[in-house]
Amino acid sequence: MKLFVVPTPIGNMEDITLRALRVLKEVDFVLCEDTRTTRNLLRHFEIDKPCQAYHIHNEHQQLDTIIRQIQQSNNVALTSDAGTPCISDPGFLLVRECVRNGIEVECLPGATALIPALVNSGLPASSFKFYGFIPHKKGKETCLKTMAAANETSIFYESPYRLLKTLEMMAPIFGADRPVCVARELTKIYEEHFRGTVAEAITHFSAKPVKGEIVVVVGTADCGSSMPEVTFE
Ligand code: SAM
Repeated sequence: MKLFVVPTPIGNMEDITLRALRVLKEVDFVLCEDTRTTRNLLRHFEIDKPCQAYHIHNEHQQLDTIIRQIQQSNNVALTSDAGTPCISDPGFLLVRECVRNGIEVECLPGATALIPALVNSGLPASSFKFYGFIPHKKGKETCLKTMAAANETSIFYESPYRLLKTLEMMAPIFGADRPVCVARELTKIYEEHFRGTVAEAITHFSAKPVKGEIVVVVGTADCGSSMPEVTFE
């Protein structure tokens, strides 16, 4: 009896791992944030497996049932729509409940948006803080102020509709010359990384409506330019 936390691709189907496919084939059933999305993924890889809904609207009610199902010697996989469950996605409550009940949990390494966004940014990656989705209204300014004062790289998820407004809010708080990288549509055909200052990002993203999925990575006040300096000897 075990809970396998199984990351799924964030765009490019090639990013599923061999182990994820084996686990999805071997478990008794799959818990899905959206059964339609996971069924499409399973179909793509020719895996036939019962799917059960586990999402933010039923996660509290389903906990006891799922724990009992696992205890009745079931191996279960937890998936979300994209990336790693529990990372700005449902899963934490179930993992915690498994741990409390002595049920083994195994999270497979795999796709998530924040790590490629951080690494691609060219900003210091040795120490960082991930904020998930930041508040839309109340608490947003406080959250941005915390980030601006941090001494590690900050990463957050943002909707394309709010990106420009967030960058405009960031300018007076972080300073318009703070290095930022906006990663868009990671692993997909139109993957793009905008690297520059907050002011340059505002200009860039003001030009046309922003589309797709977004990760914002912000450097610290003293991290220097996001582009490495080249020296010739
Ligand atoms: N569990 C996912 C993970 O491990 O990254 C995150 C799920 S969260 C509901 C969805 C958000 O993740 C999107 O709004 C976006 O901010 C980010 N995201 C997911 N896929 C992405 C992609 N291909 N490119 C850029 N950002 C992405």
